[in-house]
Amino acid sequence: MITSKTSFIALIGNPISHSLSPIIQNAALKYLGLDLIYIAIPCRNEDLKLLLNSLKTINCKGLNITIPFKEKVFDLCSEISPIANQLKAINTLKLNSMREWSATNTDVEGFIYPLKNLNLKNKQSIVLGSGGAARSVIQGLINLNFSTISVVSRNKKSLDGLINNFENQIKIQGLLNNDDQAQNFIKEADLIVNTTPVGMKKTTSETNELPYGEIFWRSLNEKTIVYDLIYNPAPTDLLKFSANKGCMTIDGLQMLIAQGMKSLSFWTDGLEVPFHIMDDALKNYLKKNDGNF
Ligand code: NAP
Repeated sequence: MITSKTSFIALIGNPISHSLSPIIQNAALKYLGLDLIYIAIPCRNEDLKLLLNSLKTINCKGLNITIPFKEKVFDLCSEISPIANQLKAINTLKLNSMREWSATNTDVEGFIYPLKNLNLKNKQSIVLGSGGAARSVIQGLINLNFSTISVVSRNKKSLDGLINNFENQIKIQGLLNNDDQAQNFIKEADLIVNTTPVGMKKTTSETNELPYGEIFWRSLNEKTIVYDLIYNPAPTDLLKFSANKGCMTIDGLQMLIAQGMKSLSFWTDGLEVPFHIMDDALKNYLKKNDGNF
């Protein structure tokens, strides 16, 4: 029950009306029996500083930060974890004992979650896209001890930046999406991760939308695991196509839940909630809403 003693955690971003975080986090808070609720607060660029400073003074226990503020909040935090510094992105804040914001990033742990029980040491991987999520994915692949990472992108500038950032940690190379060499890498890949938004649900229905077009996927074979970060729809056209080829597939819902579990643990100084509590809440919500959110 919400009472005058109830505190809250908030998601700050813009737009956020389609976020699934309130569904999974409120289910988890209820399961843990905490007097806490999770809400979404849309914020304009020019209000970010005022909002974060104001939230320090009231009964707010923590925050999730999403697009477009994952980099902009750096200046408003007094403690930043090594992983958030490494990724140059923050997705979770909590108030420390001085009532200042302490920041971290749980996306890497979220990404790794569905992969951690597979033996992927010394395997070969491909990452599609070179934006913010690709950074977390590459860090996750490094942590899982992959032997090589090939990043395929349409954007040379962000691709070069990404390769520069990680080349002292792992054998990593960049390819533009129209480079024919990509076919050799796809043939040999143990894991391919899509971090582009291609395949995300739109208002207009396009069919069979695969990153870089169907021809790009002609060498895909059943030994490859295909992981799509997109969670709406789940599965995407890419995952349906890959499953038809006999590949193991992983959708973005598991990463969404796992990064949420890690954020909750950060806010509550180590409390854990079983994966199925958030997963059941999400599946029920999606079923009720016919997959539309
Ligand atoms: P981002 O920073 O905008 O990066 C997107 C990347 O995809 C960029 O390299 C972009 O290239 C490329 N791209 C965009 N449109 C493309 C197209 N039509 N064809 C080929 N490449 C294209 O976005 P992000 O934050 O990395 O997020 C990417 C996706 O991951 C989103 O769908 C997001 O929902 C999903 N995601 C899921 C989770 C989860 O928990 N499951 C977590 C994080 C992100 P340009 O620079 O040329 O545009």
